[in-house]
Amino acid sequence: MSVRVRFAPSPTGALHIGGLRTALFNYLYAKKHNGSFILRIEDTDQNRKVDAAEDYILNSLKWLGIEPEEGPQKKGDFGPYKQSERKEIYTGEVVKLIKTGKAYYAFDSGEALAELRKEHEKKGETFKYSALNRNGLLNSLSLSEKETTEKIKKGNYVIRLKVEAGTTISIADKIRGEINVHSDEIDDKILIKGDGMPTYHFANVVDDHLMKISHVIRGEEWLPSLPLHRLIYDAFDWPVPQFLHLPLILKPKGKGKLSKRDGDQLGFPVYPLEWENSKGFKERGFLPEALLSYLSLLGWNPGSEKEIFELKELIHLFEVEKIQKGGARFDFDKARWVNHKFLANSDSKLILERFPSFFNVVGANVSEKRKLSIYGLLKERLFLLEDFKSEASLFFSDPISYDEKVIKKIQDRKPKKVLNFIIQILEKNIPASNWKKQLQSWGEKEEFPFSVIMQSLRLAIVGNLSGPDILVVCGLLEKEVILKRLKKLINYLNN
Ligand code: GLU
Repeated sequence: MSVRVRFAPSPTGALHIGGLRTALFNYLYAKKHNGSFILRIEDTDQNRKVDAAEDYILNSLKWLGIEPEEGPQKKGDFGPYKQSERKEIYTGEVVKLIKTGKAYYAFDSGEALAELRKEHEKKGETFKYSALNRNGLLNSLSLSEKETTEKIKKGNYVIRLKVEAGTTISIADKIRGEINVHSDEIDDKILIKGDGMPTYHFANVVDDHLMKISHVIRGEEWLPSLPLHRLIYDAFDWPVPQFLHLPLILKPKGKGKLSKRDGDQLGFPVYPLEWENSKGFKERGFLPEALLSYLSLLGWNPGSEKEIFELKELIHLFEVEKIQKGGARFDFDKARWVNHKFLANSDSKLILERFPSFFNVVGANVSEKRKLSIYGLLKERLFLLEDFKSEASLFFSDPISYDEKVIKKIQDRKPKKVLNFIIQILEKNIPASNWKKQLQSWGEKEEFPFSVIMQSLRLAIVGNLSGPDILVVCGLLEKEVILKRLKKLINYLNN
């Protein structure tokens, strides 16, 4: 049997990091087994549908480079790939269940059911529409054929699954093992809602069957629905696919699932792309390949210490047996570190070409060549591409203040003397690549420690002791700029 997997998001908002991880694992599994990766948009809940979300999902997958072979924008043999366009298919399928007695029409009004729920609550119980009480409620099993036909004509009905009492439902999950649930715990779930649209559960099972899905790989939050899904498969007498429920992605600290709030509070993105004015991984300067590498280890590990993976390698190594049961903690610093490694190992020119917006921050009239030299010098220091702006600022603005601790440290050594000497070398137009020798011999002659020479120079250029190799920095700065900064510090020390 060929492998066919699907990613089936509901377009209710931006795609969360957990959704991305699910998409990635599906993609990897498909590619590993020469199978197909399908995108299905589960938009049956019209109330929760957000218009921009579908495009957002498509764009996110595109950005990450894990695009489906079949989906709303890539027609395959099993379309349409949007549930809102499959209404007739669900209606056709549910009729089969009614005919075999596995599903039935129910006519109870919303108010009547709410009343029942309230009454049960008062007694500390939960109301369940089930084998125990369905005969006393308004449905095609309790009413005569004539009454039923009349009510169906009026059109106010839902269709429910007829769950048999007193059986055990068993279903295997490849990660979780076997799950057994007593059928009395499951109510007669609605399959078709009052508006004629299917519920998530019904549409999901019908589509997985009709789209010939071989493996359902999805988040753990769907595990409780699994016994119900099994019942729907059984009602149709359809074979069940293999199920794999992926572990939750947990907050960086403390208990619970990672949420958008955690990201807002701790200053990291949880969405791939910008959404409602909050930046995504893309806008913060993650390389898509780095994000994929980081995501792959959220709940999976090939069994080595390795932490950096190319997509090709992931496809090769991916084995579902190595997916863990326990939740995976989200660690933004680790994600940044992975990105840092990818940046350090990427060709600089290519990075500038692929992500120009991060480099335009230095000003419109800076040549590509100069941007490239600056990026080349700074790249080892960057974790995210957005860091370029602050790291590169020393090339475009003079220090606004000086680190007083450094001044205190070097003051006794009369830093002005060395600053004046550097002005002399500058005026002789000696290139910065030759300064080291000059400064060393001057230091020996004047009995001036080389470390203080370098600290004084760095203080003048940067304002503190941080930053990349200061002589390389000077090589990239214009003579006038260096001169101005040296004089500025001398002035400051004079006052
Ligand atoms: N539509 C569901 C979601 O948004 C998908 C669940 C599944 O993959 O079966 O998470």
